[in-house]
Amino acid sequence: MNEKKSDYEIEMVECSQCLKEIPASEAKNAEGTDYVVHFCGLECYDKWIKDRPEEKK
Ligand SMILES: [Zn+2]
Repeated sequence: MNEKKSDYEIEMVECSQCLKEIPASEAKNAEGTDYVVHFCGLECYDKWIKDRPEEKK
């Protein structure tokens, strides 16, 4: 009766800048976009913002 429950089921997302996999709970999300983008940290977030051309229409 010792049913194994996986406590390791963490949702992983990919950093949109360096493509590293990070837990969704730790990811930074960009706001103001039609789609959701995740980042492993503010560094990548900053880079992504700077690399990003004017918002697409
Ligand atoms: Zn990153």
